[in-house]
Amino acid sequence: MKDTITIIGAGAVGISSAIHLQQRGWQVTLVDRREPASETSWGNAGVINPASFVPLNNPDLHSSLGRYLRNDTASLRFKKAHLLRNLPWLLAFLQASKTRPARHNSRALHSLTSQALDEHRALMQRTGNAHRLTESGWLKVFRHGGPERAAKSLDSFSGRLMREMGIDIRVLSREELQEKEPALRPIFDSAYQLMVGGVVDNPGLMLREHAMQFVADGGTLVQGEVSDITESESGVSISLNGNPHQSDRVLIAAGPWSADVLAFARYRVTLAVERGYHAHYALAGGPTPVHSVHDIDGEYIVGPMTGGLRLTTGVELAPRDDSSNLSQLEQVEPRLFEAFDIAGRTDEPVWRGARPTLPDGVPVIGALPRSERLWVNFGHQHIGMMTGPVSGKLVAQQLSGETPDTDMTPFRPSRWIHKLRASREGSWFGQRLGG
Ligand SMILES: Cc1cc2nc3c(=O)[nH]c(=O)nc-3n(C[C@H](O)[C@H](O)[C@H](O)COP(=O)(O)OP(=O)(O)OC[C@H]3O[C@@H](n4cnc5c(N)ncnc54)[C@H](O)[C@@H]3O)c2cc1C
Repeated sequence: MKDTITIIGAGAVGISSAIHLQQRGWQVTLVDRREPASETSWGNAGVINPASFVPLNNPDLHSSLGRYLRNDTASLRFKKAHLLRNLPWLLAFLQASKTRPARHNSRALHSLTSQALDEHRALMQRTGNAHRLTESGWLKVFRHGGPERAAKSLDSFSGRLMREMGIDIRVLSREELQEKEPALRPIFDSAYQLMVGGVVDNPGLMLREHAMQFVADGGTLVQGEVSDITESESGVSISLNGNPHQSDRVLIAAGPWSADVLAFARYRVTLAVERGYHAHYALAGGPTPVHSVHDIDGEYIVGPMTGGLRLTTGVELAPRDDSSNLSQLEQVEPRLFEAFDIAGRTDEPVWRGARPTLPDGVPVIGALPRSERLWVNFGHQHIGMMTGPVSGKLVAQQLSGETPDTDMTPFRPSRWIHKLRASREGSWFGQRLGG
């Protein structure tokens, strides 16, 4: 009889893990309270770029901290009270921005991002949706300073690390940039292009197509809410829409809700979210861009999508479920209008998502401490659409007793996840918060 596994969360990470487990002979049930890929995996910038392996908390952050503390930039906004409530996360996040840990964490992430493109191509081949990926690299554009500034920006911690890891980068003059991306207005002085990777034209639909292929291949997809998890010697029972559902193993891939789901199983994790927004825009005319463009001075990312140009915003550190605050979007919108020939914003509502981020920026992938039946794969911060398939492969290899293609030590869940002990009064308390 096949081993059974239930995956909680059908985002980029859960769907990819489901397919890789199915390919290894597991009987997989994929559960989500919404349609697959309806949350964080729906609205991202669609960038798949192996160079995106340096987490935000690296030494380059230090020179911008003063500016960020003003709390008025489009790159970063925060709610002070929220940060104070999440002080252990914040302090560990800042600690990890020092040179040594940042190098270590970047290398760990590079072991994922370097395989990401191949793993995406393999899934797309299987589903038949390879047309969704345009491999045009990634443009980082500068409004002033000339090619010297673009080149100098690569003297940074992340630039040096990218070169060290063999990332192919070309500095472009104003004219070269115009030739490469004629949809951009000639307001940019220079750029650099990351030559590998590209942009997906609709990340949410791509993932839904993968999920449908998983079902066509015999997988089970259930729409339902998980509200409890009980592990025993014979298996794991979850409460699914209030009814018990049993399997040999459970994999938690609930993205920004993973702390809530872990609490059902009496575990605690140091997880925070970095909120972000997107809106779509129609072009007034002229060519459609073929690149994802990061306007460094404008502080936004924009890329061509099936719904028009999708603008995505920077980071907002605020409670996951607080109502939306559109100030960052409103701040960057005029800058987008300067950069492209835009007719206007489409009338779709502005989308909000929450990047799930552990203090070191490195996801947790593997079995939970003191458990053989409960597994996790979450914490993919800004790059989870890209790293979903490779992390899905790695967790499936681990679960199936194969030697994973990558050293999994940096991803061990015990860094940030701890079992809660029952007190005599019957309540639960943590042994330790953070690693
Ligand atoms: C503005 C923005 C831009 C981004 N750009 C990029 C990019 O260009 N490239 C990139 O690679 N990444 C990008 N990201 C990051 C990426 O989107 C995330 O890292 C990734 O989507 C996380 O996927 P996930 O599967 O872990 O989480 P999710 O997609 O959020 O999936 C988790 C699922 O768990 C389900 N769930 C939660 N609790 C329960 C429960 N109790 N019962 C049942 N189901 C439950 C939810 O409904 C949800 O569908 C971006 C993110 C944002 C916000």
